Amino acid sequence: MSELIINNGFVYDPLNRINGEKMDICIRDGKIVKTVKDPAMVVDASGMVVMPGGVDIHSHIAGGEVDTGRLLRPEDHVKDVEVKTAVTRSGVGFSIPSTFTTGYRYSKMGYTTVMNPSTPPLQARHTHEELIDTPMIDKGTYPLLGDWWISLEHIRDGLLEENAAHIAWMLKAARGYAIKIVNPGGLEAWGFGRNVHSLDDVVPNFGITPREIVRGLCKVNTMLNLPHTIHVHTNNLGQPGNYVTALETMKCVEDLAREDKPVIHITHIQFCAFKGEDWGRIKSGAEDIANYVNNHSHVTLDVGQVVFTDTTTMTADGPFQFGLYHITGNKWINHDVETETSGGIVPFTYKRSSSVHATQWSIALEIMLLIKDPWKVLMTTDHPNAGPFFYYPKIMSWYISKKARENMLKKVNKRARKKSLLPSIDRELSLYELAIVTRAGQAKALGLKDKGHLGVGADADIAIYNINPERTDPAKKFVSARKAFDRAAYTIKGGEIVVKDGEIVKQVFGKTHWVEVECARDHCRITRAQANANIKKKFKDYWTVEYENYPIREGFLHSSAPLAVKADI
Ligand SMILES: [Zn+2]
Repeated sequence: MSELIINNGFVYDPLNRINGEKMDICIRDGKIVKTVKDPAMVVDASGMVVMPGGVDIHSHIAGGEVDTGRLLRPEDHVKDVEVKTAVTRSGVGFSIPSTFTTGYRYSKMGYTTVMNPSTPPLQARHTHEELIDTPMIDKGTYPLLGDWWISLEHIRDGLLEENAAHIAWMLKAARGYAIKIVNPGGLEAWGFGRNVHSLDDVVPNFGITPREIVRGLCKVNTMLNLPHTIHVHTNNLGQPGNYVTALETMKCVEDLAREDKPVIHITHIQFCAFKGEDWGRIKSGAEDIANYVNNHSHVTLDVGQVVFTDTTTMTADGPFQFGLYHITGNKWINHDVETETSGGIVPFTYKRSSSVHATQWSIALEIMLLIKDPWKVLMTTDHPNAGPFFYYPKIMSWYISKKARENMLKKVNKRARKKSLLPSIDRELSLYELAIVTRAGQAKALGLKDKGHLGVGADADIAIYNINPERTDPAKKFVSARKAFDRAAYTIKGGEIVVKDGEIVKQVFGKTHWVEVECARDHCRITRAQANANIKKKFKDYWTVEYENYPIREGFLHSSAPLAVKADI
């Protein structure tokens, strides 16, 4: 039995409504408990902030596109080398760090859970191999199912229950955590050099629309009682005027919401919040997006905050990446995965001197600050698309300090500065709100009940930061707050101290979260058996992999953490 007590810190635990109270946190065997008798170790957190470990709902850290990005960009690695220590392995990193470096860098910032937001089901085995290889954090991945042939056929034929049974099988086969939808219908069209441009365009070969795909999978998500909602990258991402598409995507599932629960998560909303007819006239759609989200409770968002740096863009949205290649003229890779999805990688530099990039930077901040309820909007950079994740502390300083935002605003393109809504926004997130947008809200949106809080029974994943809210105002002392978030005083993972004073002191390996759906009715089991017969035939016809070799055995995962859910079918 291993016991630990964290004494006397200022605790920010929004899921349990604890707002900066001085209290002790007790840990036994990797879980938070009420009391400990004889703690093996005492952590003195006097004058420091104690929060649940950071949770990241959307960060590309593993799998085919990340790997291809690594191959495409040796220059990304050479400038950022991590040497081996007594505890840690060597590695490289900047925008596409190696697996070990990824784990260490998250852990040093007090992060303990990171979800990899997309994997083609066919490549899930390799995605898991890399996630297993990523130390320090718990993880999971979302299979790309928005352009998946069998699912599209079910939607076309109105076979809702069959589709649900099939997706349940797919989630298990890929050991996936959520349904990921990227440019619905557009990836299938891209297989033929085309795209879709609105929710009501027709998807070639299937005769259905993106609207039907989003609605169909949203219904499936509810039928299966999945812990997270559908996770959607909208159509027309990265196009001027696309805030309309983002709003329509949210509206198109409004009637499917039950009670006040979210049914859709729109990811990296910044990339879908552009107003204006062309790049020259681009402006912010943040107010429209925020107004809608403030008046509806069926949506959660993550922002995809731009930071000014060199990075690598990567997405399953093949046609978008083709467009980006034409804009930048940079080297690029495009990739098609059998009947499942596409993908592209393009290096990219966000410049303060660019009117478009500076507007994007401003849009993401505006959305974060204009949405009143912090549980609805989460901090991400869509790592590495809008910037590498290790910029989080800098972003947190923009959230908590108007002064920090003004300092950056002074340095950006004049035209963008003139258009920015930021000067009119005085809001500064409190530490309590910051804990929501970086951990509590992320865990809640994911339906990870043992994460993102410090109540009895929670996983003992904890971050301690050297900020004394009694003595300093983080809004004024934002530079020292940023440094504190950059190098956690302590990170505790599964009840063990793994980071001290911003350095890794122990290497651990986290769990892989995935969802195991159990059907409630016999009918569903029969449907699933029939569906499997159908899939077998499809595999013979269209896949290079045998049906029997496709699913990943649970034993393949290093530390499997299935979340069992009972479906309504
Ligand atoms: Zn992404």
